[in-house]
Amino acid sequence: MMSDNKTIPYKIYLEESEMPKQWYNVRADMKNKPAPLLNPATLEPMTAEELGHVFCDELVKQELDDTNAYIDIPQEIQDFYKMYRPSPLVRAYCLEKELDTPAKIYYKFEGNNTSGSHKLNSAIAQAYYAKEQHLKGVTTETGAGQWGTALSMACAYFNLDCKVFMVKCSYEQKPFRREVMRTYGANVTPSPSDTTNVGRKILAEFPGTSGSLGCAISEAVEAATSQEGYRYVLGSVLSQVLLHQSVIGLETKAALDKYDITPDIIIGCAGGGSNLGGLISPFMGEKLRGEKDYRFIAVEPASCPSLTRGKYAYDFCDTGMVCPLSKMYTLGSGFIPSANHAGGLRYHGMSSTLSQLYDDKLMEAVSVEQTSVFEAATKFARVEGILPAPESSHAIKVAMDEAMKCKETGEEKTIVFGLTGTGYFDMVAYGKYNDGDMTDYIPTDEDLAKGFAGLPNV
Ligand SMILES: *Cc1c(COP(=O)(O)O)cnc(C)c1O
Repeated sequence: MMSDNKTIPYKIYLEESEMPKQWYNVRADMKNKPAPLLNPATLEPMTAEELGHVFCDELVKQELDDTNAYIDIPQEIQDFYKMYRPSPLVRAYCLEKELDTPAKIYYKFEGNNTSGSHKLNSAIAQAYYAKEQHLKGVTTETGAGQWGTALSMACAYFNLDCKVFMVKCSYEQKPFRREVMRTYGANVTPSPSDTTNVGRKILAEFPGTSGSLGCAISEAVEAATSQEGYRYVLGSVLSQVLLHQSVIGLETKAALDKYDITPDIIIGCAGGGSNLGGLISPFMGEKLRGEKDYRFIAVEPASCPSLTRGKYAYDFCDTGMVCPLSKMYTLGSGFIPSANHAGGLRYHGMSSTLSQLYDDKLMEAVSVEQTSVFEAATKFARVEGILPAPESSHAIKVAMDEAMKCKETGEEKTIVFGLTGTGYFDMVAYGKYNDGDMTDYIPTDEDLAKGFAGLPNV
């Protein structure tokens, strides 16, 4: 919908002065708040003090804040954002033409920085608060490497030590990602390693293992809690990460408002939920306050369907079971997508905020198969010029599907989707698709039952 006939440019940019100065905390407007994190030993809500052993103090405050709608973005973070933001909101004229649809399609492109994804928006915030607390450094894990890269960039900026535990098979198979991190000064260790107790234990038990994200998380948490002046940081799932990512949605809304555009449908891919949560937050706020109505669609892989086929239950955030319990849509912390899965978004759970919104039927979710995702990615790359990350391409696929429905009905709906990043480091997966070797696997109910059996009794 558009109220006048201003011509919409291919790219809507904001002036620096129009960039958000506060993050928006959607939890403040939720009637049903997300369930609290629980201490796995006592099953009591985690206190700020307990969380403070693992996370930075200011980030703990943000994690526990269900009431303040707006939180100031410190000036140093605003200044860093200015190096690569505002990110463009692009009118996908070429894609609309290709699909011959009356729908109006926009995408918010977050791939315009060296990390190649939206993850830098939270990495810089988390590094800033670690610096403010006079810490020496932070530890984290990385699988494919986007989060580790973003954090390395953020730590370089604030002169913080950055220890990244990288899943061993990725460390070996993605040497370029590893070298980007090292170029930014990060210390990258293949996980499992002999530098932690948990790593040594796993190595003794499974010599020659290629590692897993769960194991890397356990090593990163141990490295943070066993060394003076270190804290652990996480790139998705947590409420603080959704808060930082609200910069995506706030910029999107400001850009649309400039041209009096009201979206009908807002679509994002969902791994742990941070980009989707950030994109929809300000719009969801309007819906929660009864001011406007929108359709929100979370898109997940059919091979890792936490929202569409998961259970809403307390679960471990990591395979190592060292992190607090979170109530979320989950496939069980032991769930691992089938070996042919290539499209990312392989996390077993979902942000507690998005889980609650989904449970309250304020958001929809769909799952898509990976060959259809790469088909959409290829079409998009050829007409819009950007080589999308496989993760982002889940949103592209569903945006295209919705646009094709408009073609059938003749409706001129306005569709906005999040294009979270670029796919240059995912060419092995693209190669499989190009060779016709990519297959789909949808887990059976029996496959999923194994993951559910590992859910804690809460
Ligand atoms: C990490 C990542 C995602 C998924 O993470 P969310 O927390 O669900 O947003 C999506 N796209 C890209 C490019 C990523 O790097």
